[in-house]
Amino acid sequence: MRRDIFEECVSLIDDMKLGMHASIKRVDNVDGFAYAGDSADAVAALDQKAGKASKAYCPYARPAAGQTADVTGPAPDSAGYYPPELTGMRGSGYSRGYTAGHSLRDGHFFDTAPVPSAVDELYDLVIVGGGISGLSAAYFYQKQHGFTKKVLVLDNHDDFGGHAKRNEFKHGTDVRVSNGGAYDLAGGSRSSAAQKELFGDLGIDVIALAEQNIDRRFYSSRGMGQGVFFDKETFGEDRLLKDPAPWTDFKFAYEPLVPDNAEELWQRFLGEAPMPEHVRQDVYRLYHDKKDYLAGLSIAEKTTKLDRMSYQDYLLKVVGCDPMVCTYLRDRTFGSGRGMDATTALAAQSRFGLPGFEGLGLPKRQVTGKSATFHFPEGNATVARLLVRKLVPGSLPGSTLADSMTTRVNYATLDRAGNGTRIRLNSTVVNVLNVTDTPGGKGVRVTYQQDDHLLSINARQCVLACWFHIIPYICPEMSEEQRVALNYNVHTPNLWVNVWLRNWTAFHKAGVTLVNAPKSYFASLILEVPVSVGDYKHSQRPEDPIVLSMLRGYGKPGLHIKDQFRLGRIEMYETSFETYERETRKQLGAMLGPYGFDPVKDILGITVNRWGHGYSYWYSPLYDEFMVNGGEPPHLRARQPFGQITIANTDSGGTDSTPLAVDMAHRAVAELASL
Ligand SMILES: Cc1cc2nc3c(=O)[nH]c(=O)nc-3n(C[C@H](O)[C@H](O)[C@H](O)COP(=O)(O)OP(=O)(O)OC[C@H]3O[C@@H](n4cnc5c(N)ncnc54)[C@H](O)[C@@H]3O)c2cc1C
Repeated sequence: MRRDIFEECVSLIDDMKLGMHASIKRVDNVDGFAYAGDSADAVAALDQKAGKASKAYCPYARPAAGQTADVTGPAPDSAGYYPPELTGMRGSGYSRGYTAGHSLRDGHFFDTAPVPSAVDELYDLVIVGGGISGLSAAYFYQKQHGFTKKVLVLDNHDDFGGHAKRNEFKHGTDVRVSNGGAYDLAGGSRSSAAQKELFGDLGIDVIALAEQNIDRRFYSSRGMGQGVFFDKETFGEDRLLKDPAPWTDFKFAYEPLVPDNAEELWQRFLGEAPMPEHVRQDVYRLYHDKKDYLAGLSIAEKTTKLDRMSYQDYLLKVVGCDPMVCTYLRDRTFGSGRGMDATTALAAQSRFGLPGFEGLGLPKRQVTGKSATFHFPEGNATVARLLVRKLVPGSLPGSTLADSMTTRVNYATLDRAGNGTRIRLNSTVVNVLNVTDTPGGKGVRVTYQQDDHLLSINARQCVLACWFHIIPYICPEMSEEQRVALNYNVHTPNLWVNVWLRNWTAFHKAGVTLVNAPKSYFASLILEVPVSVGDYKHSQRPEDPIVLSMLRGYGKPGLHIKDQFRLGRIEMYETSFETYERETRKQLGAMLGPYGFDPVKDILGITVNRWGHGYSYWYSPLYDEFMVNGGEPPHLRARQPFGQITIANTDSGGTDSTPLAVDMAHRAVAELASL
């Protein structure tokens, strides 16, 4: 047999063993063009990507013959429209969500766009972006005015919530939910007044929820804890071991944070980890030694030094570890979207609790007041859904946080004429202009694209609650200085893949619930967090369905962090669903096959949440000069109001979190009053 035919046969057989033929829904698109998995369509999609169709206006609305649009089904104003249960490519990584934005970026959008049609609607306020910040801005504004104003929220996605989206999966009578993006919510006495007001109004008490709704010993009482997966490609053999180290991430959800039998696990690690003996000893030493690697320096000098060097450099150049120790620990900081080359040694110590600092005598972090972190089963989509309930009567039936968990949003209500607040999805804003010819005089004209229409509406004022980097494209009147400041922010690419599993018996048998997988395709694997709220119960028995979240890190050590993000984003968008699916099946099979996992039978569905523009940029002394030499943080210049427009979004807070998105909404709404 010819070698190429032989290799193709082998790969087909491998795919059969992985279950690539199994019946799950497969919906794909490559950089904006949908296809249904057929190779001819894939080639057509890549041709289009090369430039032909990207010049066309609104290409996603008209899939070519033989293609299947990646978002099909009922229209937003019909009863059957329910985006949380769509699988395949989700997040912001489906063509309908991003094609118009990318076409604006490439300067093609207006080449063929029609003259906008004026919509006969006049709003007090238009908000661009229906994430937590945009929805909070609508809420604060309406509350301030007694819910009497006309407010329109426009978002390019088919669902509201921005990064805070709900994924849902039904199997028989079981309904599982998970976060598609934003995962946990911090709160407590250090929360700002705006956060306390909003979360209070929504009935969210993070401290009480964290005390009452997390079963922290659920997994440990079943002999399960953290694991480490060594893969054959990197370490010479596939081996899953229990991790003897303390938890570094997601600490709020598990107990104990140091395994009860840690020393026993260390002995097993020393005997069985597929790494050379001296590397195993190095890892052990790192976790156990109490040596002062910066002896002779004062605490202040040590802190400054650790703040100016990466954790990777600290391990290699100060502690003197073997480079393979860095490979072993490589993925432990990826929860932050940055690898250990891009994480300061100080953050490794204080934020992640990574090893190597015990003997330095650094002061313990002083915690004042009471605070907590909580994970809703659907992540921070709970905040978004409760906000929508407040804004749009009848959109989320019920009245309590608990009952919201198992209740479906009625999307048909969101954009009804007569609502005080209307939420218009699948609407990408392409232009926002200060004007003087609206019926009320001074105002704002907002143009947006919806399907193959270009529409414009008038409003008295506007809050831009969308991403910084998009603003210069949609607001051409902006000053060059502000444009530069806005472009300073480069978002992290985040990949959050939810795999809907028939059961978790293999995890139970292997004794793992969270797995770090150094250098594997997916860096971290997290089995459903043991949280129940209201009628929603986390998976109770190993035989029951469950959701597993798999995260990929996109580090490219050696490059500036912003270039790492840009390259990661390209890789993310150029990867097909088929590849994500194959890598998912391969890694789970290799890791858990010995414990009975069958990738053909045990995977019920896969939802790939691609967040090309994920976490907002946060500053680091490794990359941001003003942090070392002083100066104004760029986000302060970037968020200046202009004309009748103010700027919200977590980007305008200089870092990234749900509570900050709320604060920024509150500030942007307050600024409207002074324009
Ligand atoms: C994978 C992931 C995990 C995260 N985990 C956490 C976590 O655990 N805890 C936490 O506190 N935070 C987390 N975050 C951070 C998250 O960004 C914030 O918590 C918060 O959700 C940000 O809200 P926002 O409204 O500021 O921005 P976004 O949620 O980004 O909302 C902005 C919206 O504007 C839309 N938009 C952009 N341009 C246009 C346009 N031209 N027209 C119309 N609409 C537009 C966007 O598509 C988006 O829907 C996570 C983020 C990601 C990506």
